[in-house]
Amino acid sequence: MVKVDVKYTKLFINNDWVDAVSKKTFPTINPQDETVITNVAEGDKADIDLAVAAAKKAFHRRSEWRTMDASQRGLLMLKLADLIESQARYLAELETLDCGKPVKEAEEEVYYSTTVLRYYAGKADKICGNTIPADGEVLSFTVKEPVGVCGQIIPWNYPIPMMSWKISPALAAGCTIVLKPAEQTPLTALAVAALIKEAGFPPGVVNVVPGYGPTAGAALTHHPDVDKIAFTGSTEVGRLVMAAAAANNLKRVTLELGGKSPLVVFNDADVEKAAQTAHAAAFANGGQCCCAGTRTYVQSGIYDQFVEKAAEIATKRSVGNPFDDVQQGPQIDKEMYCRVLEYITAGKEGGAKCVAGGDKVDSKGYYIKPTVFADVTDNMKIAREEIFGPVQSILKFDTFEEVVDRANDTNYGLGAGVITNDITTALSFAKQVRAGSVWVNTYDHTTSQTPFGGFKDSGLGRELGEDGINQYVETKTITVSLPKQPQ
Ligand code: NAD
Repeated sequence: MVKVDVKYTKLFINNDWVDAVSKKTFPTINPQDETVITNVAEGDKADIDLAVAAAKKAFHRRSEWRTMDASQRGLLMLKLADLIESQARYLAELETLDCGKPVKEAEEEVYYSTTVLRYYAGKADKICGNTIPADGEVLSFTVKEPVGVCGQIIPWNYPIPMMSWKISPALAAGCTIVLKPAEQTPLTALAVAALIKEAGFPPGVVNVVPGYGPTAGAALTHHPDVDKIAFTGSTEVGRLVMAAAAANNLKRVTLELGGKSPLVVFNDADVEKAAQTAHAAAFANGGQCCCAGTRTYVQSGIYDQFVEKAAEIATKRSVGNPFDDVQQGPQIDKEMYCRVLEYITAGKEGGAKCVAGGDKVDSKGYYIKPTVFADVTDNMKIAREEIFGPVQSILKFDTFEEVVDRANDTNYGLGAGVITNDITTALSFAKQVRAGSVWVNTYDHTTSQTPFGGFKDSGLGRELGEDGINQYVETKTITVSLPKQPQ
C-alpha cells in the first residue's frame, strides 16, 4: 500500500482551518481495503452558517475581492493553477487513496483541472455586456455582475475536476464560494483549499466544508444568504436541491445529474476500433461517469462480431490496486459496490446474456469484474436505469429511424455517441438525438472550452466554455437619458 500524507482534515472557512462547531468528525474510507484513511471534521448547519457569513462578507461591495481588478482575479487563478500543477503527483495519490481511481488517471485529471482554471482565468477580464440601440432618447447598455455567494456541491467520481468546473467560472465572475465535497472524497478538496490560501485569495472567497448531504448539503441549499447553487450528483438529489433553492430566496440553480447515454455503432464502422471506443465509453472511471455510454446500440450486420470483440476487451481489462499500472480500481464505496452487483444480478435474471465478467473480484475491497451483457432489450432494468459501475449493455438495431427513437426513449439526456464513416448518418444522428453532448467517432471528449450539461432529467444549465460563465453572472441593464438637445 502506498503511503500518502494526509495534511488537511479540518473545515476551511475564511482562510482558516477550524473544527466543526459540534466537534464531530466522520471517517473517510479507503475503497481498496475498506480501512479508515482518516477522520475529517464534519460540517453541519452551524458550520455552513459560518462559511456563508464569511463568503457574504468577502462579497461585500467594498471588500478586497469585489474591488479587485478582474485581471487580478485572473492572475490569482493562474497562480492557483501553477500551485496545483506543482503538486500534481501528491494530489493524484491523495485522490487515488480516497476514491480508488488509477493513479495515472488521477494525475491526468489534476492536469486537466488546471486547464479549466486557466481557461476561466483568461475569461475573468473578458466578461462583457452589450450596448443596445434601445427605443427613445437614451443610451442603454448591460453589465455582467457576479451572482453572489455560491453554494457548490460536488460528487465523488471526479473530485478535483468537479471542483475545478465549479470554482473556476465562479471565481472568474467574481463570486464567492462555499463548496461541499462529497462525503466519500473530502481530502483533495481540502488540499486544494490550502493552495487557494497560498495563492493569495482573500479570506472568505472560497470556503470548503466537508460533511454529509442531508445535513451540510441541505443547509447550503436552504440558506437564505446563498444566491446560487451549483450541484453535481444524482437526479434524485437534484430534485431536492431545486426544491430547496426555490423554497425561500429563489436561488439560481445549475444541475449536472445522471444519465443513461446511448452510443450507436453503424454497420460501416471498423469493428475493432468501434469496440475499443465503446469500451472506453462504458468503463472509464470504473463506469462511475455521469455520461458513460452504457447503452451500446450495434447495427445487426456487425452485431455478433462486435459482441465478441467487446467481451474480449472487457475480459482483458486490468483490475486491481489503483497505485499499480491498472485500468480499473475498486468502486467508490460499499453502497455503490452492492448496488452495481444487484444490477448485474438483475441483468442475468432479466434474460440478458452475460458475455464477460458478471461478478465481484474475489478479494478485499470494492472490486467488480468488467461486465458485458449482450442481447439486452430496451425494457430491461439494466437498459433503463443508471448503474454507475463497470457494466456495458449491448443492444441490437436494424435501421436509423428505429435507433434514434430507441436512443431517445429515456428520461435522461446527458451524452450520446455515434460511430460511422458516413457524415450524413453521423450528423443526422447528432441533430436528432436529445442530449447535451454528442460525440462522433469518439466519446466523452470534454474540454474546458466546450459546454457540458444535460437535456431532460440530466440537468439544468451548462458548465464549461462560454456558457459556463453565464451561470455565474447577472445581467444588469443601465439606461441613461440622453436628450437630443443637450441642456
Ligand atoms: P448524490 O446525489 O447522492 O451526491 C452528490 C452530492 O450531493 C454529495 O456531495 C452529497 O453529499 C450531496 N447531497 C446528498 N444529498 C443531499 C441533499 N439532500 N442536499 C444537498 N446535497 C446533498 O450522488 P452520488 O451517489 O454521490 O454520485 C453519483 C451520481 O451523480 C450519479 O447519479 C451520477 O450520474 C451523478 N453525476 C453526475 C455528473 C454530471 O456531470 N452530470 C457528474 C458526476 C456524477
